Amino acid sequence: MGLTNQSTGKAVVSETALIKNQNPNDIIIAIAGNPNVGKSTVFNSLTGLRQHTGNWPGKTVANAQGKFFYNNKTFRLVDIPGTYSLMANSVEEEIARDFICFGEADAIITVVDASCLQRSLNLTLQILEVTRNVVVCVNLIDEARKKKIHIDLDELSLQLGVPTVATNARKGQGLESLMNEVDKMCRGNTKTFNIKTDYGDLIESSVDKIQKYINNNDKVSNLMDPRWLSLRMLDEDDKLIRKANEYLNINDVNSHRLETVISEERERIFQNVADKNYISDKIVSEIIHKSDRIYKQCVKLQNKQYNKTDRLIDKILTSKITGVPIMILMLMGIFWLTITGANYPSELIAAGLFSFQDKLTQFFACAPLSNWIGNMLVMGVYRTLAWVVSVMLPPMAIFFPLFTLLEDVGYLPRIAFNLDNFFKKAGAHGKQALTMCMGFGCNACGVIGCRIIQSPRERLIAILTNNFVPCNGRFPTLIAIITMFFAGYISSPFRSFISSLILTLVILLGVALTFLVSSFLSKTFLKGIPSSFILELPPYRAPQVGKVLIRSVLDRTVFVLARAAAVAAPAGMVIWIMANVYINNTSILTHCSAFLDPFARLIGLDGVILLAFILGFPANEIVIPIIIMSYMNTGSILELESLTELHSLLVANGWTPITAICTMLFSLIHFPCGTTCWTIRKETGSFKWTALSILIPTVIGIFICFIVCQIGKLILSI
Ligand code: GDP
Repeated sequence: MGLTNQSTGKAVVSETALIKNQNPNDIIIAIAGNPNVGKSTVFNSLTGLRQHTGNWPGKTVANAQGKFFYNNKTFRLVDIPGTYSLMANSVEEEIARDFICFGEADAIITVVDASCLQRSLNLTLQILEVTRNVVVCVNLIDEARKKKIHIDLDELSLQLGVPTVATNARKGQGLESLMNEVDKMCRGNTKTFNIKTDYGDLIESSVDKIQKYINNNDKVSNLMDPRWLSLRMLDEDDKLIRKANEYLNINDVNSHRLETVISEERERIFQNVADKNYISDKIVSEIIHKSDRIYKQCVKLQNKQYNKTDRLIDKILTSKITGVPIMILMLMGIFWLTITGANYPSELIAAGLFSFQDKLTQFFACAPLSNWIGNMLVMGVYRTLAWVVSVMLPPMAIFFPLFTLLEDVGYLPRIAFNLDNFFKKAGAHGKQALTMCMGFGCNACGVIGCRIIQSPRERLIAILTNNFVPCNGRFPTLIAIITMFFAGYISSPFRSFISSLILTLVILLGVALTFLVSSFLSKTFLKGIPSSFILELPPYRAPQVGKVLIRSVLDRTVFVLARAAAVAAPAGMVIWIMANVYINNTSILTHCSAFLDPFARLIGLDGVILLAFILGFPANEIVIPIIIMSYMNTGSILELESLTELHSLLVANGWTPITAICTMLFSLIHFPCGTTCWTIRKETGSFKWTALSILIPTVIGIFICFIVCQIGKLILSI
């Protein structure tokens, strides 16, 4: 008997109701818990999948599932978003609550943080009111031991009435015992005890009365403890009641008589205590008291100062004076390492790939293909691919691991903390900073990440402004232009420094625009008061360097590169065809760029550049290759093995420093790519907001480029 896993290659996001239907024989196990307690790490260790993990709360925003085999059975594990409570407040908390209540899981693994058990117990107690089929996974046990926190697991089991297992999911320790308990529970071999939280006579007697109306409903009792549903009904949890009707398809839950009893009971309680919020407050306070009691009985702190170092570091990293400057310096440091580190490998890869181009040309010359097709494949498809790989791969392979290291250490929530005040002033939500961090990798991911923002108004603001953070597809363009036009003249040791400084300024401009546009939106289309929120600052954790490297290179770099290549290859072909099909002795590409040219020149670009941005709509990565191809087909034939040669090509086609600045600005501020637009449409469910998300940055981009171009020309003419 042992643990085996089966990787299905990719975590699949799925709706609550669909998971059970996929294969009714599979045993469904939900992994629930607070954010950042190691749920995804447990999930990954068991399934062999690579669901995103990171040291900050809120990264899992949808259910992900994976399979594994244990004891000759197939278990389907569902990693649900982290939640602090079943009284759901945000979209991802609702997803979590719905799966716990209606996902028909055969058992729930509740992951708790051993180094912060008290808070984790609040949710565990609530889950235990829904079902007894729970195994408590006391994770991060290594951190607890380091902090000299001793947990009496047998006592905890006794207090909760269900099995508890200590794990270190990072190292895979304790997972075999965990699955053993889960398997036992699913076979019905686990004895559990009922440890209901007592909410006092007033509430309990009302719950009893309501429960009589749903006790006989098999659909309810098969899924959850009717007492809990009754309690939620008494508390008028409308969203849950609606969901109960939706999932259970039962009318009597909401029948007229039941409704009358609920309002009679609420009225009776109100007459006794004269406090409208009594029911909600009492439920919350009893749960907190109970977890407090259990915590005191099971946990012994041998060193009460265990988080002194973390607090000391936080005093510096989140202080009003040093917080933001350190953040900017850190960003600049990352860019510096990326630019310095990427130069040499970029040239090597380019040299290798472009020398292979000659062999390909020779091969196609001998192959029984027409010259035209050979040219299209080599000069169109291969050349574009070679550019994308050589320019994008090295910076990504450096930037992503560095960024992931910061994420793993626990720095991202500190960024949100530092920027919270600015967002509040802009009428937006502090968590928007986290969605912007996600946007650095890919704006589509940033837009999905906006689900962590609970208020629809603030979520929309975050979605509409995410594009002001340049994604990974735009970084190489920015870096290349900065290196060619602004840092190229400076002697080597300072070149990377100046490049990273300029890149940081460009990013800061994007951040400033985010604040400005957020502020504008919150005063016009999306009026409202910013909501307050609690963002947990997780403990600093030593990053797992090996895993970070694998995760960021394999998951992010290769994924983004593959996506770019998949778009670049066909796009390269289409553009090559456009450049080589002639109408009236002029190529289609030249016709199009000539049409755009007068307008483009007003904003400091030229027709080719503007056309490249338009044709680059499927993916920003291909903007520079399109520019190169267009210029190469309109005259100079160059082998672009280095940025110096690219610089010569651009200058030969009329590029000046003003063109370079405007291209950079337009790259930062223009419509989102196709994938992001599609994601915005999906997330907002509205064409209107999608259109606005395209319009806002494009209009601002055109405006800023126009101003910069006119001022630039004025200065040059003086
Ligand atoms: P989730 O939000 O609950 O899914 O949490 P993650 O799985 O993303 O983990 C949060 C952080 O805790 C990551 O940095 C993990 O590497 C780390 N982590 C998870 N489990 C353990 C553990 O048992 N020990 C230690 N030291 N770190 C862990």
